[in-house]
Amino acid sequence: SAAVKVEALCKRYDTNTPNIFSDVSFSIGTGESVAIIGPNGAGKSTLLKCCVRLLDPDSGSVFFNDQCLTTMTARDLRRFRSRIGFVFQKHQLISGLSALSNVLHGSLAGRPGPRGWTRHLAGRQTCEQAMHCLELVGLSEVAQRPVGRLSGGQSQRVAIARALMQSPALLIADEPTASLDPQASEALMGLLRDLSTKSGITLLFVSHELRHATDYADRVLGLSGGTLQLDRASSSLCLNE
Ligand code: ADP
Ligand code: ADP
Repeated sequence: SAAVKVEALCKRYDTNTPNIFSDVSFSIGTGESVAIIGPNGAGKSTLLKCCVRLLDPDSGSVFFNDQCLTTMTARDLRRFRSRIGFVFQKHQLISGLSALSNVLHGSLAGRPGPRGWTRHLAGRQTCEQAMHCLELVGLSEVAQRPVGRLSGGQSQRVAIARALMQSPALLIADEPTASLDPQASEALMGLLRDLSTKSGITLLFVSHELRHATDYADRVLGLSGGTLQLDRASSSLCLNE
């Protein structure tokens, strides 16, 4: 069944400028891993944001498990968003706080944040869940270390652990390896892919690395010139370098 279904999506930022993209349609199966590729400025980030209504498309529809996102009320949208994990280029972690605190802090997103000393307290069960999420990304050992003292790859893993606190049905990642060296990039993509395969989390990521698309996605969507130019199984693609 389709986890995400996008129909005839159009988006422009300004009425005086051409559409960023038009008539984009595709669907993503539950548990599938899908890459959006395309040149710089093609609109990959914009498309990703429209898929979860971080941005409103100008026309077209997005369905998530047959629920229409584009007409959803704000309240339903909040509930929907609570089932999505977001991982961005820059991890937006708090560098002075430990990995564990960051994972816990993220779980409070959307609610008024606790102030003062109360923000250092969390329920035992929530703490155990956060430790479990850190374990899933291989960071149990550094749970108490301030994020500012972690490597770029480790920081992105903390961001993923934070996303996992939501028990996401869908994981959205916008160039998650942009600031990482090749080795850390491969490891991070492998981790995302494993999470998708083992936990059945649907994964939609943007990448400008063709190899990441062919190696870590089941399917590749290519956005270029304002339209979807490619929608194919990665196994049917051949990368010539
Ligand atoms: P990509 O992710 O493929 O690099 P983006 O979706 O970030 O592309 O951007 C597509 C185009 O839309 C670019 O020309 C960018 O400058 C423009 N753009 C992105 N965000 C905005 C915005 N908030 N307002 C106006 N233009 C934007
Ligand atoms: P990303 O790489 O994730 O697309 P960017 O660094 O390109 O992020 O953009 C950062 C923010 O600035 C985003 O919220 C994006 O929508 C916005 N933005 C990008 N290009 C433009 C633009 N030409 N005009 C206004 N806002 C823009």
